[in-house]
Amino acid sequence: MGTATLTIDLDAIVANWRALDGRTDASTETAAVVKADAYGLGIARVASALRDAGARKFFVAVAEEGAALRQALGPEAEIMVFSGHMAGDTDLIRGLGLVPMLNSIEQITRHVETLPGARFGLQLDTGMNRLGIEPDEWAAIRDIVLPRGPVLVMSHLACADDRDDARNARQLRTFREMTDGISAPRSLAATGGILLGPGFHFDLTRPGIGLYGGRPFADARPVLRLSLPVIQCRDVASGEIVGYGGSFEASAPTRIATLSAGYADGLIRAMGGEAVVFHGAVPCPLAGRVSMDLLTVDIGHLDTDPSHLDILGRHQGVDDLADSAGTIGYEILTSLGPRYVRNYAGI
Ligand SMILES: *Cc1c(COP(=O)(O)O)cnc(C)c1O
Repeated sequence: MGTATLTIDLDAIVANWRALDGRTDASTETAAVVKADAYGLGIARVASALRDAGARKFFVAVAEEGAALRQALGPEAEIMVFSGHMAGDTDLIRGLGLVPMLNSIEQITRHVETLPGARFGLQLDTGMNRLGIEPDEWAAIRDIVLPRGPVLVMSHLACADDRDDARNARQLRTFREMTDGISAPRSLAATGGILLGPGFHFDLTRPGIGLYGGRPFADARPVLRLSLPVIQCRDVASGEIVGYGGSFEASAPTRIATLSAGYADGLIRAMGGEAVVFHGAVPCPLAGRVSMDLLTVDIGHLDTDPSHLDILGRHQGVDDLADSAGTIGYEILTSLGPRYVRNYAGI
């Protein structure tokens, strides 16, 4: 088979959700963030597994993402939309029964005028300056919107992946100043915020990356194996080059395996030169540049020609690969392309 296989361990995702749920008190509900097709892993399968494990609230980035999710989960699950109620979203929000996290006075107005009585949440800006209602606007409107019964009042931390960053405490203080005493449920923490401790947990947490095995949840169970088929192997002599631009030049005779996956599959070009793939537990370095559909690997130290080599698995997670490409695990995950066969099983 010419395509690479991405194996996604749903049991590991469920175990990670349970482990993060276990970091908070029983009074704090743990939701699941499944935006961007569950970080590239397949929203229908991932969300169904989490629903079966007890997750009841799911977050997506935009209303369109709610369609596949509603189909997978049926009418019961609560689907919340971070981008709120944007122009043109009204029919989707009504039709799919979505709960928009309203981000501005403009969105609040749009929501109550077009869907009077429909459920909503509110997103406050506590310092990240990306989405949400600013403190001075909030002071002006809170007594008008709170009586309409938002189902959630939330904000998002900018620096929660670094537990020593003083801005976490500053955002927490601002969130408390803006929301202490309200009766609506509150939410501040994503994966990083859960790990910052109980003061950040409030009524609901919103983990994403930790479910999928990424930093900063260091205790996560690995979720992925990405196994790339070898198309061809060849000997190269000392002084021969490999790949575009000849950036690899053999300093001694060796053997090169050519694998079926490249930057069009999310194995971004920036990882050339640094990254390794694995034959069992044995690392094999990339040799030369990443092509659109192909990778070349130095296998001179292996005894036999392999049929497959793993670029993600027990020996190399998304963050390890991200480090070798100068990016973050989130970007590696969400770049995993549509050409992979997605296989849902243990890794
Ligand atoms: C993406 C996102 C999350 C999940 O963040 P992770 O770091 O992946 O856990 C939570 N809340 C908001 C507002 C987000 O945009």
